[in-house]
Amino acid sequence: MVVRISYHCNTQILEWEWASDNELMPYPYFTSCYLIDGLLIDSGAPGGENDLREFVKSLNQDQMIDKCFITHTHEDHAGGAHMLNTEFGIPIFTSQKAIDLLKKGNKYPEYRQAAWGPELLPINARIIDKPIITKSKNFKFELFPMTGHAPELVALIEKTKQWAFVADAVQPKYKMIFGKNSDIQEDISLIYQSLSKLYDFTEGMDHLLIFSAGNGVMQGREIILKKMEEIEDLNKNVHDYYNQFQENGYSEKKLIRKIIKKLLGRESIIGQLTQGDLSRENLIISLLKWKKR
Ligand SMILES: [Zn+2]
Repeated sequence: MVVRISYHCNTQILEWEWASDNELMPYPYFTSCYLIDGLLIDSGAPGGENDLREFVKSLNQDQMIDKCFITHTHEDHAGGAHMLNTEFGIPIFTSQKAIDLLKKGNKYPEYRQAAWGPELLPINARIIDKPIITKSKNFKFELFPMTGHAPELVALIEKTKQWAFVADAVQPKYKMIFGKNSDIQEDISLIYQSLSKLYDFTEGMDHLLIFSAGNGVMQGREIILKKMEEIEDLNKNVHDYYNQFQENGYSEKKLIRKIIKKLLGRESIIGQLTQGDLSRENLIISLLKWKKR
């Protein structure tokens, strides 16, 4: 297992990253949790439980976690919450939409087990619907719903500090794999809307820092605009190619394959490994569903 700890903003923020070193993975996928003044944002993956336990034990009095917020129910974010709650008595908070999903736990497909560990154990979380104040009262985090990557995803924004903890709601590049199975339902039009909402909400924040899960920290509000442009371009290209290829009378399946080839080279290796659960094809289909803007 790989654990990395780093600090941001004069050690006000501690980032704990975890990745599996399973040989089946083409490369390590990292997931991050962030600890700020006793508030832990997300909790890593089920496979990281032992490492997270050691991390919690290593914390000094000032750093001690007094609450944990789960941004969304994917196992690489909620994976340590069962242990934090049952072994350390740390209360787990989440949004209304996430609460029942967390209560159920999740036995996810094998390929995800290779990355994130055996299964998501049931979590008794509490709903929070007002801003989270940290233990020293120095930080106030607004709840900011960002659907698209997951219907229940809620980001946390500290307005005074200009920090946005967005989990998987902002991705480094939209060329990637896209989920379409029962519990990973992504929607590119909703991702776009959420980005646009984030851009509006952060108006005037000239030093905005966007903390992602496993993809580092993005600086500046302009990055949100760039992400939106990236999706707009992709959307335009997908629809243009679709119309162009349609004239040739290709089947829908062949059409999509041809668009992938033109725009993204070929299906990602993850697409093959997951038998289409997470694939570029899903991204193209989601773009095609999105009405031409
Ligand atoms: Zn996710």
